[in-house]
Amino acid sequence: MATTPCDVIVIGGGPAGSTASTLLARKGYAVELFEREHFPRFHIGESMIPNTYPVLQRTGMLEKMKGSHFVKKYSVQFVNQRGKLSEPFYFNEHNPHESSQTWQVRRSEFDHVALNNARENGVTVHEGARVLEVLFEGTRAVGIRVKPEDGPEREVRAKVVIDASGQSTLILDRFGLREWDPALKKAALWTYWKGAYRDAGRDEGATIVIQTEGKKGWFWYIPLHDDIISVGVVADQDYLFKNRASKDYETIYFEEVGRAPGVQPRIANAQRCDVFRAQKEYSYRAKKAAGDGWCLIGDAFGFLDPLYSSGLLLALTSGAMASDCIAEALATGDTSESQLRKWEAPYLQGMNRIRRLVCEFYDGLSFGRFIKKHPHLKGLVTDVLIGDVFKDDVDALWGPMDEMRTEQHLPAYAAV
Ligand SMILES: Cc1cc2nc3c(=O)[nH]c(=O)nc-3n(C[C@H](O)[C@H](O)[C@H](O)COP(=O)(O)OP(=O)(O)OC[C@H]3O[C@@H](n4cnc5c(N)ncnc54)[C@H](O)[C@@H]3O)c2cc1C
Repeated sequence: MATTPCDVIVIGGGPAGSTASTLLARKGYAVELFEREHFPRFHIGESMIPNTYPVLQRTGMLEKMKGSHFVKKYSVQFVNQRGKLSEPFYFNEHNPHESSQTWQVRRSEFDHVALNNARENGVTVHEGARVLEVLFEGTRAVGIRVKPEDGPEREVRAKVVIDASGQSTLILDRFGLREWDPALKKAALWTYWKGAYRDAGRDEGATIVIQTEGKKGWFWYIPLHDDIISVGVVADQDYLFKNRASKDYETIYFEEVGRAPGVQPRIANAQRCDVFRAQKEYSYRAKKAAGDGWCLIGDAFGFLDPLYSSGLLLALTSGAMASDCIAEALATGDTSESQLRKWEAPYLQGMNRIRRLVCEFYDGLSFGRFIKKHPHLKGLVTDVLIGDVFKDDVDALWGPMDEMRTEQHLPAYAAV
């Protein structure tokens, strides 16, 4: 067993891992990243939101995105259970800036570009290398045991281990740190369509959130490049997969399309061009984001329901915030839990603000009525939708939303 020391080990080469590793390597630290797959590999999570911009800029990804063929996204639109389109949320209306435009990405391609960007910035990337366990001495993480597919198991040591293993949640599972979100126990079922309906002009790349009858669930409608549209349904796990006459994905998918007047005409003349895919998507978070010598980022720290396409924002932002703390830790020689958790509280505040808006949607708050009653608050709703949530201003929404809940006879918001 060979042992090669470095400053930082990153487990996982998804958006969180590539972001954190790139930023640390840019600061001159020796970073080794271990990814079990070979990229490009399939991944769900295709719609970005505008506030990914500052992190893309920091990692050097922004120019690559601007030069890419990814579809440009300017808005998010909502279609109700009867198929009626409500007023879109254009990201540039509230606070116009270049960053008001974002992208719809095929993740196999985006993640590959980001991982190569990490390499270009000096990260040593090992693909086809599965991390078997994180090594500890007492409570302190000191390295990993990894199995490269072309060689024997080996140990690698580092001052800090970052777990960016996505929903594999290596460290979170090891210490039993997971807290499930009792309100958000969803599942998703999706496929891809070629030649499905696209709006024209600036609406062409909009994400459309389409409710199903009885508000049992909602479809995402995400236009990708090459004339492909990603169309998936999200609903309570039990509703989607239990108590059905058929458990066949295709049958369930079309049963739900049948309940979504907003989806049917959009895919009526399209060709399905992929298999049906399903994933459980219960929201969760870890009880803490770091310990002595280790740190959790992206889905390895927490996963939030994808209603507002916040996963990439959270992966990139946690990667950036954690990397700043880790750089400070390495510079001062203090890689303790308290140093490595410094980013956790502000990050959670932002995540909680998105969660609140997610719950308002599922609990049935009428956004149309809300904006009509409080037109001056539309900008703050847009701020949450673009991911500008790491600031206190948006908290001005919650009082009026509490009042609207009372008016609509909805239960009080269940915070976590
Ligand atoms: C149904 C659904 C729809 C979604 N839609 C959206 C959306 O529209 N927009 C959005 O922004 N987000 C969306 N998300 C969320 C998004 O997919 C995730 O939040 C995002 O991918 C998290 O990035 P990550 O880097 O933390 O993890 P990942 O992208 O999962 O990357 C983790 C990496 O770690 C690797 N790995 C795992 N275990 C090991 C190991 N032992 N050793 C080495 N490598 C390992 C994996 O192979 C993987 O490449 C959606 C999620 C779901 C479930």
